[in-house]
Amino acid sequence: IRGTDIPVTGTSEMKRFASTINALVAEFNRQEDWRQQMMQDLAHELRTPLTSLHSRIEAILDGIHPATEENLYKIYAEIDRLCRLVDDLQKLSEAEGARFQLNIERIDMTQLIRDVYEGFLYVSKGKDIRLTFGQPHVPCYAEVDPDRIIQIVSNLLSNAIKYTPAGGSVEIGLYPAESDIVIYCQDNGIGISKRELSLIFNRFYRVDKSRTRRDSRGGIGVGLSIAKALAEAHGGTIGVESVPGKGSKFYFSIHAGGY
Ligand code: ADP
Repeated sequence: IRGTDIPVTGTSEMKRFASTINALVAEFNRQEDWRQQMMQDLAHELRTPLTSLHSRIEAILDGIHPATEENLYKIYAEIDRLCRLVDDLQKLSEAEGARFQLNIERIDMTQLIRDVYEGFLYVSKGKDIRLTFGQPHVPCYAEVDPDRIIQIVSNLLSNAIKYTPAGGSVEIGLYPAESDIVIYCQDNGIGISKRELSLIFNRFYRVDKSRTRRDSRGGIGVGLSIAKALAEAHGGTIGVESVPGKGSKFYFSIHAGGY
């Protein structure tokens, strides 16, 4: 419904009515734009691995490529990527969806973040990355949905490990700041250029598309959009500071629920 704003005139009651209708129409249009963009992005993301699968299988059927273990493994890896893509999309649509519900509990944030940190020690060690925990000096409690906070922190940590070369270091930690608790994830990895910083929270945005696609661990560029939607669902904000070649610091803040 475009260009149909009702003129806000007449009695104060009529004006209020017109404003409410206009706001509803604007919200409807916003959701419609979101849906259309999402469908386009989705079609684009699915087309690439499907085209590749199609031609790999066709080549085997036509006898151009033999059905060797290596060739089948390439198909398997492509299907695996498609499965992760669908999983990520489901998580994203859940997090951005209108019916999204948080199961709020009063949580010891230090304990929660430390648990996630411990879960990543093995992965980081495997990549020769020193992972440390930044413990706050005071107890930090907040009213949050613990599973969603774990999801945000896991996304930030897996990115930090993914985009930091072997021998580097990553720190995950938290601290109180006025009425908030700030949770941060700092790495000394490849960093992000100024131009890209404002784009990385967008759905399907990846700094180097070809590199991420070739890299079998590469995501589809929705991890940060999910993290952003989840932080915002908590009434929080998410941000990043980064210097190319030096590293990145991602952080998000949520309201503290009394110490
Ligand atoms: P992806 O699934 O590609 O990792 P994300 O939404 O999680 O998608 O991240 C978007 C892009 O932001 C990534 O492709 C990467 O280029 C960049 N990025 C995210 N975290 C970091 C980091 N810690 N260091 C450098 N670049 C990062």
